[in-house]
Amino acid sequence: GSVFDHVVQAPEDPILGVTVAYNKDPSPVKLNLGVGAYRTEEGKPLVLNVVRRAEQLLVNDRSRVKEYLPIVGLAEFNKLSAKLMFGADSPAIQVKRVTTVQCLSGTGSLRVGAEFLARHHHQRTIYIPQPTWGNHGKIFTLAGLSVKTYRYYDPATRGLNFQGLLEDLSLAPSGAIVLLHACAHNPTGVDPTLQQWEQIRQLIRLKGLLPFFDSAYQGFASGSLDADAQSVRMFVADGGECLAAQSYAKNMGLYGERVGALSIVCKTADVASRVESQVKLVIRPMFSNPPIHGASIVAIILKNRDMYNEWTVELKAMADRIISMRQQLFDALRARGTPGDWNHILKQIGMFTFTGLNTAQVAFMTKEYHVYMTSDGRISMAGLSSKTVPHLADAIHAAVT
Ligand code: PLP
Repeated sequence: GSVFDHVVQAPEDPILGVTVAYNKDPSPVKLNLGVGAYRTEEGKPLVLNVVRRAEQLLVNDRSRVKEYLPIVGLAEFNKLSAKLMFGADSPAIQVKRVTTVQCLSGTGSLRVGAEFLARHHHQRTIYIPQPTWGNHGKIFTLAGLSVKTYRYYDPATRGLNFQGLLEDLSLAPSGAIVLLHACAHNPTGVDPTLQQWEQIRQLIRLKGLLPFFDSAYQGFASGSLDADAQSVRMFVADGGECLAAQSYAKNMGLYGERVGALSIVCKTADVASRVESQVKLVIRPMFSNPPIHGASIVAIILKNRDMYNEWTVELKAMADRIISMRQQLFDALRARGTPGDWNHILKQIGMFTFTGLNTAQVAFMTKEYHVYMTSDGRISMAGLSSKTVPHLADAIHAAVT
């Protein structure tokens, strides 16, 4: 017998499990819309040209070594990441009230931020939107926070439940942490307007809540890095405190390199410096220090004006292709006379469309049309192409009629 005989088979991850099922399907028409990763019009993963160029520079530079980074990661990467998030001339950065540490992509940044809060924040409850990215609840619970939800999505309008959001946050205890998607809310694709953000900001400040931004799609939503950071910047401009977890997985296509940053915006430089010293105590026993390669790629691109510009062009091209997939899918459903109002496909923002299809309809589409997606009806627009839109439209049409 094994000492592990009692260990039972765990279920697949609800998101990554979609790809496992897809890979097992021998059908030539199969379509994977589960994965949150960009695909080209040919259905292939994309390495940005500017990333290839940066990697070439890294390889050719014989002075580069593979020594450990400091606990907080690559200093240059941290500085440039903060500028990208908060703005090139952010007063908060200038007065040094922001501490930024390199972490393992968005997930790792959320986890480190959450563990810091569990140790040092007086109110250990975090409110996450209902629904939200499936990993949030687990990340925060395991970090030692107590997770509650606030209303976010209204299935009736397939839009924001703004009233519900305001009500739930106004009932939260003072000091509670609020997880906010900086842009391109996953899985719903529904974002507050700037006016709504301003109202959310006022309520959060009035109640003394602590905002924690998850920024996994900066530049990916609108095609503009600055426009997609506006929500976060509003909360920094008022002089108050917040946290932000940044990921370079989507916007630089660095998924597997695990590059990200956690910023903690404090009231003063003195507090920020003490906070950073404690964040190091969280990181050291967790992964000691972060990997060097991906952060070096990002630093090269962000500090070189020409490469930065090339990046923004490539990023906009990805965002635009996704936006054009929204139009094509919408048009294809209209052409088929598919019953229902499909305007939300055009309205929603970012990588995903929250279709409104239910679990049974999703199961039907997978069984009959080999279309794979999460059971909540979320489809990745980045996994679609002009060639596959008709097949998806056929599948949706059959599922709802
Ligand atoms: N947050 C949200 C909302 C996401 O959608 C994702 C990825 O899908 C992440 C965070 C973290 O991604 P990563 O850890 O790959 O940067």
